[in-house]
Amino acid sequence: MSASVEYEPVIGLEIHVQLKTRTKMFCGCELSFGDPPNVHTCPRCLGLPGTLPVINAQAVHYGIMIGLALGCEIAPRSQFHRKNYFYPDLPKGYQISQYDVPLCSSGQLGDVRIHRVHLEEDAAKLVHAGASGRIHSADRSAVDFNRSGTPLAEIVTEPDLHSADDAREWLNLLRTTLRAIGVSDVNMEEGSLRCDANVSVRPVGSTELGTKTELKNMNSFRFLAQGIKAEVDRQVDLLRSGRPVLQETLHFDPASGRLTSMRSKEEAHDYRYFPEPDLVPLVATDEMLEAARAALPELPQARAERFLTRFGLSDERSRELAFRPELADFFESAVEAGEGAEPQAIANWMQALVERLADGADPAESPLEPRSFAALVRMVSDRTVSRDAGREVLDILLREDGSRATIVEREGLGALSADEGGLAGIVAAALAADPDAAAQVRAGNMKAMGPLVGYVMRETKGRADGGEINRLVREQLGI
Ligand code: ADP
Ligand code: ZN
Ligand code: MG
Repeated sequence: MSASVEYEPVIGLEIHVQLKTRTKMFCGCELSFGDPPNVHTCPRCLGLPGTLPVINAQAVHYGIMIGLALGCEIAPRSQFHRKNYFYPDLPKGYQISQYDVPLCSSGQLGDVRIHRVHLEEDAAKLVHAGASGRIHSADRSAVDFNRSGTPLAEIVTEPDLHSADDAREWLNLLRTTLRAIGVSDVNMEEGSLRCDANVSVRPVGSTELGTKTELKNMNSFRFLAQGIKAEVDRQVDLLRSGRPVLQETLHFDPASGRLTSMRSKEEAHDYRYFPEPDLVPLVATDEMLEAARAALPELPQARAERFLTRFGLSDERSRELAFRPELADFFESAVEAGEGAEPQAIANWMQALVERLADGADPAESPLEPRSFAALVRMVSDRTVSRDAGREVLDILLREDGSRATIVEREGLGALSADEGGLAGIVAAALAADPDAAAQVRAGNMKAMGPLVGYVMRETKGRADGGEINRLVREQLGI
């Protein structure tokens, strides 16, 4: 091969998702995270002979929900198989999985086609010496069977991704979607979302697939991108120097960022798949499909598209909001409250709001009311308060401890206007509560209007008219 050939990465992902069911896939043991080892076990998930599996209906329900959310066809009858191999975390000597007839197939999420989604059980967890204070001898490992039999959905994509960054972004879309439908915690660090990447390269313009390698153990979004980049570079270097890429499984070491060979690639026949004789085929009835459909919320991608077309938000802003349901909900509540604010302006101010919240916090749990937020945005838009003052008002509205009844509640005031006298009283209270700000406004510093307006907004839960507040403040200060 000539050194001048340009190569295109080709990537397909295999994702394991731990389902958030109450009990395990084939027995009644509870799922647990962080409990002492080996407290959630029974003869079935310990692999003792003479026990029989029973399919967890909730796991099937979640599996169908995933399939529908990913636009898949749901097989009316799917089949569980035994996948046989030896490993100390697999006491039965086989994993119950699905093979030639998976529960879901042929879907699409974003630009990536979904090959299949099937249900299976997780293995137990090996605890190596050093990783836990419980094992002291350096050459020992122990097995924690709490994880054994945890329900998994395995999602397999077609090789439709073409860069490490695209893979990372798409995995985020998948995670957001799975989180929104509530079937899993989808936490990579904790192992409830695990992603293997299949990577090959091919000359740009070629439609044939090159030989792929499989990358394991990339347990964060950053590592996933890092591992894929390293592997693409390695393969391109090999091909440019005339050496072949060998089909093998590589292990990603987060410490060094390096990939090391684990084993040459296994083939399906190595696993001696055969139908699980202790389980009848899994029949997905119309009622089950209907129940799964009914349980699906609006999906993040659809919501982003709606924000884009209905409210005219940018692509990026639509996704920022829609991919975090708690932000999207708050945004929509504020838009619904209206208060004369434009949805686009509300969306822009959501950014200022997010900056003021703890990472990942839900604004609904802050003292800020969507209505006050909308009212604030409108006041900035119609220049009742400046942008800077608006930020200060936001700070004030967020600082409120939430336990104190507002004046509106205490006094039972309805919609407020100056004529009713209620608003004038609250403005007076604001001036009294913050004499500093009052003095500054009197001296002509209009930025200091922010805290005063904030006070009135808080006390009226955003029901007061910004222009009126402004007028009353001036009137009462005699300016
Ligand atoms: P295997 O038989 O090795 O398990 P599959 O055909 O089942 O391979 O595909 C497993 C995963 O690897 C899928 O996500 C698929 O999209 C991806 N894949 C298959 N061939 C390639 C390739 N040449 N390059 C990159 N990814 C690939
Ligand atoms: Zn059990
Ligand atoms: Mg495979």
